[in-house]
Amino acid sequence: MIDARRAEVVGRIGAALGPEAQLHLVGGALRDLLLGRSGGDWDLATALDPREVMARAKAAHLRSLPTGLQHGTVTILVEGEPYEVTSFRGDGPYLDGRRPIEVRLGVSLEEDLARRDFTINALALPVEALAERAWRTALVDPFGGQADLALGLIRAVGDPQVRFAEDGLRPLRACRFAAQLGFRVEDATEAAIPRRLEVARRVAVERVFVELGKLLVARAPSEGLELLARTGLLDLWLPELRPLVDCPQGLPHRWDVWRHTLALMAHLRPEPALRWAALFHDAGKPRKRTVDDGGRIRFLGHEAVSLEIAQTVLVRLKAPKALQGQVQALVRHHGTHPEPSWSDGACRRFLARLADDGLALADWSAFRRADQLARGGDPGPVEDEHTAILTRLEGLAAQRPPLAAAHLALDGRALMALAGRSGGPWLGALQRHLLDQVLEDPRRNEPAWLEGEARVWLAGAPE
Ligand code: ATP
Ligand code: MG
Repeated sequence: MIDARRAEVVGRIGAALGPEAQLHLVGGALRDLLLGRSGGDWDLATALDPREVMARAKAAHLRSLPTGLQHGTVTILVEGEPYEVTSFRGDGPYLDGRRPIEVRLGVSLEEDLARRDFTINALALPVEALAERAWRTALVDPFGGQADLALGLIRAVGDPQVRFAEDGLRPLRACRFAAQLGFRVEDATEAAIPRRLEVARRVAVERVFVELGKLLVARAPSEGLELLARTGLLDLWLPELRPLVDCPQGLPHRWDVWRHTLALMAHLRPEPALRWAALFHDAGKPRKRTVDDGGRIRFLGHEAVSLEIAQTVLVRLKAPKALQGQVQALVRHHGTHPEPSWSDGACRRFLARLADDGLALADWSAFRRADQLARGGDPGPVEDEHTAILTRLEGLAAQRPPLAAAHLALDGRALMALAGRSGGPWLGALQRHLLDQVLEDPRRNEPAWLEGEARVWLAGAPE
């Protein structure tokens, strides 16, 4: 279904720019329209040059901004929503594997479509056709994009080896679209990727991070990740993950570490922190793998190595600090399995550790459940065991026990007065001691009990 409101807005922009503008809806918006997906940006292309676009928009009382004049792009704002209008352009030569050294304006629509990456992204539709029932008949499709959409194929426009030599990001975009659309990369297009790795290596990490993020939160991240592994792109940006491929694990695991990692993705909501954490959660396993005399495979202490790898990669990719923190917390706590034999105090200490790392119980739980399911065993018992653990932890959390020093009924100032000392490392140590006591039994969190305990601790503490 065409979004009627947007179609109306785009029609208004078309009317404002006039027939010589040959305004077309282009690229991803049409691909998504034909697939019945919605939500993405609507990009427009025109035969006018950008200054003319701005002048005509102004004459029609439409606001416009010169957001990328050097590439021919003007942004027109309608009802607060931005529409990018880019002049038909051809790309000049690419010298660095990143960007063309110049763009040529004043070319035909066909030439504009020819510079686009994949056939499914090289479609155009005159905006007037959006109002027609039979709009499909007006599609401009010089490279067979509709046929490839029907076949579920990602195919480069032109010779893939040439196109991937121009811009090293395109191979990664192919993997990303495979993950988002569940499409296959056409054979010659895929075969060109391993031959152009040196170009891909030069792409700016910021662009790589954005594409990998889109791939991970896609519908089928495992398709994209498999492609990365198969084509060698994985070794450019995530070499730390290569040893996961074919790293065997014993029961209760059914798959090697890599397959388990891919399976985990499918059990998680498409949220960046959860999916990035999934990617790294067991990355430390190959380095920590041991096999004992009985043939049992273990990975003792792998979480710490996974944590190190996650941090190294995310810093290298210039991931935002907030994401780094969330991923760290998920990876750090993914291997904790509270058992029925744990005391309430032990459970509360665990809740306190999660709180300390800013990790919500619900997120820890979603991750643990997915991790257990992705072992590939019978899901029934896994669900039962997990639900039992979660119910207990939720029950304890619902009592809102103090979980941090800030929740103690005696604050730092009161403790300093009691000790007759000014603040210092002793204070933190005392607060941790008191919190431990309170985690053991939350009823202890009242001033008189804490004061008594503090006096005993202070009497035994070094000056
Ligand atoms: P998304 O849903 O992520 O927005 P998209 O296909 O719209 O996907 P954009 O990055 O918004 O991707 O690009 C818009 C259009 O520009 C694409 O559909 C494609 O036609 C073209 N394009 C984008 N990046 C490249 C590239 N690296 N090389 C060639 N053409 C590109
Ligand atoms: Mg887009």
